[in-house]
Amino acid sequence: MKATESIARNFHRAASILDLNDAARQRLLTPYREVKVECPLVRDDGSAATYVGYRVQHDNARGPMKGGIRYHPHAGEDEVTALATAMTWKTAVAGLPYGGAKGGIAVDPSTLSIAELERLTRVFIQRLHDVIGPNIDIPGPDMGTSAAVMGWMADEYAKYHGWTPGVVTGKPIELGGSAGRQSATGRGLVLGAECLFEDEHRMVADFTYAIQGFGNVGMWTARLIHERGGRIMAVSDVTGAIRNPHGLDVGALIEYTRRNGSIQGFPEADPFTGADLLAESVDVLIPAALGGVITRENAHRIRARYILEGANGPTEADADEVLSSQGVVVLPDIFANVGGVTVSYFEWVQNHQNYYWEEDRVNGELKRFIQRAWRDLRATANELACDLRTAAYVLAIRRVWQATQQRGS
Ligand code: NAD
Repeated sequence: MKATESIARNFHRAASILDLNDAARQRLLTPYREVKVECPLVRDDGSAATYVGYRVQHDNARGPMKGGIRYHPHAGEDEVTALATAMTWKTAVAGLPYGGAKGGIAVDPSTLSIAELERLTRVFIQRLHDVIGPNIDIPGPDMGTSAAVMGWMADEYAKYHGWTPGVVTGKPIELGGSAGRQSATGRGLVLGAECLFEDEHRMVADFTYAIQGFGNVGMWTARLIHERGGRIMAVSDVTGAIRNPHGLDVGALIEYTRRNGSIQGFPEADPFTGADLLAESVDVLIPAALGGVITRENAHRIRARYILEGANGPTEADADEVLSSQGVVVLPDIFANVGGVTVSYFEWVQNHQNYYWEEDRVNGELKRFIQRAWRDLRATANELACDLRTAAYVLAIRRVWQATQQRGS
């Protein structure tokens, strides 16, 4: 199923509950602007390569558009459009004064040297600088991009518009980044899980976990769950999966991964096939890598009781029915991974104020925002007697449609 098709299905289910007519649906689904650019690169050896970059700006009714930039070989029009749409709903669920956007370059960053990565990033911003800005569209990091990449983006933008740190978020601290941004998505996920579990009088420490993806989101999530007493039984990354029946030593695994670039060969665990991670016998499954990994075909293999969607769009829309028939509770991406964009919002606020917060304040504000979003989400789910994904979409679409009407045409 195409990523846009999956997200449109979720949208239409909620739009029907809200009784939105076809014109309203079309208005809400059609992207504001789609940009596709050529990114030529001179490789270190003097040879030439050309990559394709995308930025889809989906909606700005509630504020400037916000969303990450992904460097991944599969980044393409459909994926970026779906992710941009998801950002509109995500910022609305989180109650942030933003719309949604997303971008990407179809490139495997591991095939580029640091110098090549920097040149490619600068070319991308040369092509985009006219359509982004702190009050227009604010990129941030996503898969395959990092604080360093965001720093280069801010610097390239400055060549055309002067130093404007609020044009991108996820920057290095020295360039106006926020304390707590690196851990924010994982922290938000764990705070969201705490809200969910608390409703059932349970806590993070009561459960076992498997995590797909051991990058920024997967690693921080693992660390924070481990700190709260939860046991991480298995993790995977692009190279495969590992498990330990007694629980993984998360500190040692993070250290090992930082040194070796992947989880492969971690001595205190048994390797197994990455695709089998979804079927691990654990209480909680956390997809924190790619989209579209849980499908109608493989959903029946999932044995977990809860799925916490760290990744964007990990569950295809028609897999939800299978999961729900198995009694699996899904904490949907547009709530579960809002921590990153929430702290990006704090970064942007700090850039505007030119006043920087301590990490404790960032983490405290994040907790407040997640708990508020959870209360709104839970209230909507109770009001409609529906699952959390449908409730999240209803909550988001209601807010965006209201703003659209209030702004007029
Ligand atoms: P990252 O690039 O830091 O890490 C990605 C991880 O996924 C790596 O460990 C990689 O090896 C692994 N991976 C790639 N292909 C895989 C596969 N086929 N099977 C298993 N693992 C695989 O990326 P990230 O920033 O951690 O983002 C992960 C997901 O979370 C993405 O879907 C992203 O859109 C979403 N997300 C990220 C943020 C953020 O702040 N970084 C915020 C919200 C959502």
